[in-house]
Amino acid sequence: MTDSPYDTPLGLYIAGEWITAGRDTQEVLNPADGRAVGHVPLATAADLDRALEAAERGFRAWRSTAPQERAAVLARTAALVRERADQLARLATLEEGKPFAEAKGEVLATAALLDFHAGEAVRIYGRVLPRPTGTRSLVLHQPVGPVAAFCAWNFPVMNPVRKLSPAIAAGCSVILKPSEETPGAAVAILRCFQDAGLPGDVAQLVFGVPDAVSRHLLASPVTRKLSFTGSVPVGKHLLKLAADTVMKSTMELGGHGPVLVFDDCDLERTLDTLVAHKFRNAGQVCVAPTRFHVQQGIYERFAQGFAERTKALKLGNGLDKATQMGPMANQRRPEAIAGLVEQAVGAGAKLLTGGARGEGEGFFFTPTVLADVPLSSSAMNEEPFGPVALIGSFASADDAITEANRLPYGLGAYCFTENGRLQNRLGDEIEAGMVAINTVRLSWGDAPFGGVKDSGFGSEDGPEGIAAHLVTKAVHIA
Ligand code: NAD
Repeated sequence: MTDSPYDTPLGLYIAGEWITAGRDTQEVLNPADGRAVGHVPLATAADLDRALEAAERGFRAWRSTAPQERAAVLARTAALVRERADQLARLATLEEGKPFAEAKGEVLATAALLDFHAGEAVRIYGRVLPRPTGTRSLVLHQPVGPVAAFCAWNFPVMNPVRKLSPAIAAGCSVILKPSEETPGAAVAILRCFQDAGLPGDVAQLVFGVPDAVSRHLLASPVTRKLSFTGSVPVGKHLLKLAADTVMKSTMELGGHGPVLVFDDCDLERTLDTLVAHKFRNAGQVCVAPTRFHVQQGIYERFAQGFAERTKALKLGNGLDKATQMGPMANQRRPEAIAGLVEQAVGAGAKLLTGGARGEGEGFFFTPTVLADVPLSSSAMNEEPFGPVALIGSFASADDAITEANRLPYGLGAYCFTENGRLQNRLGDEIEAGMVAINTVRLSWGDAPFGGVKDSGFGSEDGPEGIAAHLVTKAVHIA
């Protein structure tokens, strides 16, 4: 392809070698216009077997490598990610649709996460237990083994690194299957690791038919850990496969972020913050604020203020500097959102703005605000994963907390109140892996990121993200 947007060809990376031809391929689409921008090769069963063999070799070598050397590779990778930030961000926008500035922010957060893991790689401490003189009991934390990691398309740069970086810090090898819909950023990330000196067998990159790849990798006794980011149904399916080999697992699944807005909040500031955050990545974020439960005293003002700000957002191609919200990542998303909006309006919700498919061939859906949304509507129960804000009212803090905990999801939750006693109560009682109070930032690199209930288990990020790649061993020496 002469006009390829890719600096290096899309490919599989197995045992230190790139495979860029000679395989079946899948088209990669630009969601802004629905046109093909490239073709990604799909791994055969033999490729997966070679990836498993390489991962086994890579694990033996990498687990014995000095943590300082593992840290140095991660730090050099972080530097390369910063150096190549514009290229990485452009690929994320091209394949996933998010505005370039958002993509650039994702890239810089990714570099910061690599730096954090570089620091943590040398701090995997054990314990020495008190025993009679001349004897010891040791508690060791050792890398679990080769990891099979699967991640979704919504953060094309960050998601692959959230899988690779903690595993590499811990001394594991990895076989990563990112989404076939956003392969370019993952390829560019692997090239950063390769150029930073990561030995070839330590990280393998494969694309393929998702179900075939996951069945193959999870059935192998080589694989000792499953790490998945994606939807709840796929997560449950993979956990069943992992059960056959009693595999350690980390599940970062979907959410349905409740936002509890109390009468005493700083309303204008809260609205500014929430509208910007709601429509980030066209709402395709696992921790997206989704159902806005607003106390009765400010309900009308909140709903109107939210709708006015939303109407002003500029929808467009993410490569256009003026764009505030890009297209959705694939054709499935606007179709799903249109169905949810239609069902909610049919059930009595008020459409304050949006609710329409965009013009042209791209996968656009206008930023949408629905008020008075019945709790029984599908959107109030299923993860919408799109640019739709669902607003409803509550009377008391008890009601708000009950509502926040009503669904089987428990990922991110948001609360806005100036009442310190209430802030503590919300932090204690909301069933979620992460609670943000008077802020929308849940992802910090040094703090655990993950969910409870159907949203998953096992944190990513923070020291906890590395611990999730370790097994504990007690050694008693008499
Ligand atoms: P999906 O569940 O089909 O796919 C999600 C991801 O999992 C994709 O990258 C896909 O390639 C991968 N996948 C699917 N089946 C797999 C399998 N058998 N083995 C391994 N990987 C597999 O859904 P989708 O249409 O791509 O995305 C929509 C839904 O996914 C949303 O409604 C949302 O719930 C969820 N999602 C969650 C996150 C998150 O960060 N937790 C990210 C993206 C999507």
